[in-house]
Amino acid sequence: MKYVVAVRALCEFTAKHGDLDLRFTPSPSAQQGMAGHALVAARRAKSYQAEVSLTGEYQQLLVRGRADGYDPERNQLEEVKTFRGDLAALPENHRQLHWAQVKIYGWLLCLKLGLPELRLALVYFDIGSQQETLLSELFSADTLQQYFESQCERFLHWARQELAHRAARDAALASLPFPHAAFRPGQRELAEAVYKSGSSGRCLMAQAPTGIGKTIGTVFPLLKAAPRQELDKVIFLAAKTSGRSLALDALALIKNSAPALPLRVLELVARDKACEHPDKACHGESCPLAKGFYDRLPAARSAALSVPLAPGLLNKDALRSVALAHGVCPYYLSQDLVRWSDVVVGDYNYYFDPSALLHGLTVGNQWRVSVLVDEAHNLVERARKMYSAVLDQADLAGVRQSAAPALKKSLGHLQRTWRDLHKDQNETYQVHAELPAKFLQALQQATSAITDDLETHPTRVDAGLQRFYFDALHFSRMAESFGKHSLFDITLSHESGSGGKPFAQLCIRNVVPAPFLAARFAAARSVALFSATLSPQAYYADTLGLPVDTVWVDVPSPFVAEQLTVQVVSDISTRYQHRDNSLSPIVDLMARQYTAKAGNYLVFLSSYDYLQKLATLFSARYPNIPMWEQTRRMDETARDEFLARFTLRGQGIGFAVLGGVFAEGIDLPGKRLIGAFIATLGLPQVNPVNEQIRARMGANFGAGQSYDYTYLYPGLQKVVQAAGRVIRTTSDQGVIYLIDDRFTRPEVHDLLPRWWRINRLRVQRNDLALARWVED
Ligand code: SF4
Repeated sequence: MKYVVAVRALCEFTAKHGDLDLRFTPSPSAQQGMAGHALVAARRAKSYQAEVSLTGEYQQLLVRGRADGYDPERNQLEEVKTFRGDLAALPENHRQLHWAQVKIYGWLLCLKLGLPELRLALVYFDIGSQQETLLSELFSADTLQQYFESQCERFLHWARQELAHRAARDAALASLPFPHAAFRPGQRELAEAVYKSGSSGRCLMAQAPTGIGKTIGTVFPLLKAAPRQELDKVIFLAAKTSGRSLALDALALIKNSAPALPLRVLELVARDKACEHPDKACHGESCPLAKGFYDRLPAARSAALSVPLAPGLLNKDALRSVALAHGVCPYYLSQDLVRWSDVVVGDYNYYFDPSALLHGLTVGNQWRVSVLVDEAHNLVERARKMYSAVLDQADLAGVRQSAAPALKKSLGHLQRTWRDLHKDQNETYQVHAELPAKFLQALQQATSAITDDLETHPTRVDAGLQRFYFDALHFSRMAESFGKHSLFDITLSHESGSGGKPFAQLCIRNVVPAPFLAARFAAARSVALFSATLSPQAYYADTLGLPVDTVWVDVPSPFVAEQLTVQVVSDISTRYQHRDNSLSPIVDLMARQYTAKAGNYLVFLSSYDYLQKLATLFSARYPNIPMWEQTRRMDETARDEFLARFTLRGQGIGFAVLGGVFAEGIDLPGKRLIGAFIATLGLPQVNPVNEQIRARMGANFGAGQSYDYTYLYPGLQKVVQAAGRVIRTTSDQGVIYLIDDRFTRPEVHDLLPRWWRINRLRVQRNDLALARWVED
């Protein structure tokens, strides 16, 4: 069996030495890179061959890659590197790496064309000035062959070890037993669907209820499918830390049930959570864990992957201890270990965001990966954020004040162009059909000036300038791909700058992430998106850009109607204008239910303001019923304290906001939670932004869908998630009150779980005596 390795990956393994150096050398965006490559190719002679596919073998290695271009007339092979800023600032070890790559390509081309010699050229293309700097040298085929073989030789030992690992992994996975005695109801159906989608290479949307063991039910079948599908990796993506923890627990269980299984499981955590020196910068002159990083990386990598040292999972703590024992940065060690791991567990952004590591490596190395997306209903909102960009004029004003003299001119020009953008704007919020070309040009000039300045003064620290710089780069990047999927809007703020003119916030607001995500789905062998709330299927498929042949499975709930009493309270309106009138009947209803059956309840409201009003009235009218409230910006301790009140013997009502941290992802089985009051449909507020989103939804999917896609579906999804907190196991019993007359509408009714038996209730009869009765 051959070990397949990309030229770039081979060189990164064998030819990277010295310090990690991530000083301000922001690489051009993918589009800028492609445009740069295209421009260089366009400047060459007609006979120039771009994107030359090359392969070669050395013992058990199959090396492959695509060289940027070959000019047969000059017998010159070129490797193009786009950059911005000062080429002299390029770290020496980066340049060595580039030479290593072009030399490997050089030998593979000599082999392919039978060339006795070849000129190799590194073409550095400055995306700002569009100038090329060319470094070239003539090599004999013999010299290049020797270089190729020496690099392969250095990798061979590792490759053999990887082949052995892969064979042992696949053999163990083929006979891997299910880690529990039996599947739970619904779990087998989910597992079979995931196995089939992994085997057929199709995407899957699986709506599967809580309590059936979704994590094991999705991870296990993909691991079983891995050997036959020759999967390089399984990628588990979660929206929240709790989802990652559940995945790691499930994988630990699988590993414990099969101690001989050599499965490498890696957790990816955010840089700010993994960084050991948050006060330092990521280069050898500042951070000790970046100094000599690549020299110590091989030992750290081997230690992390060796079974005796890391018998469990490479989670955050295990990784940290290995990294510190070898004096390397844990965060960047984890990035290297992605290449050698079988299962990677991380946040959505590692695969879906514009410069996602896992997606980049998958494409670059042509890996076969299967992706699991946990709680996938969150992906629409998360992806919108990833592909939106915001720039604040007040930030620029602050940055300008403290900016170095070299930046004053370009930042001043940017500020003037910015002012011109909204000088005639009378409304607070305005959408524009086109992006402002002049402004984008001024922004580009400003970022180039900042790049130069940061390179000239690498040790100068200006957090505000850096933040603005990265925001500006992201904005420019999103501007490159602006289209029907996004809005460009300007919002005037109350804060004003010089001359009393209001500041303006510019936003490229992604509405439909589908065009961005479609390529991510296509890059994977299979993707399974699962959640308890993925209905309606078309809404998620359309907005996420899932392939047309995506398979849909709706796993029946293991719960039965007898477990849950669902009451639709049809004579209360929670609309904004009726909220004050709704408070009294709602608190009375809650008290009546609590008095009938004391225990732990949650009440969900649409906003903190509504929550506060209801809580104030409730505590005044029913002071003997214990209650506690969610507040804005609760830290982790406060959240834990809120949840700690839900004990088996506890009694009282927790007040929370729909769509907030207590409305999904929390597990309070049995008597820890026996009921919920949901006093809202969760519909997003009708405001100018949401109305523009609605119009854009209509433009993308038809006017008939615009309201549902903007308001109804996102709202009801939150309601069903919150309601799902009540029944967690087949022995739970509970009650849910859906408080609003609109819950009786057929289109709303259709979005509620099919296993619910829904009753109607009117509460505004003569219940005035209730308060006194409860207090007595
Ligand atoms: S420890 Fe922190 S500062 Fe040092 S290299 Fe790692 S991420 Fe950068």
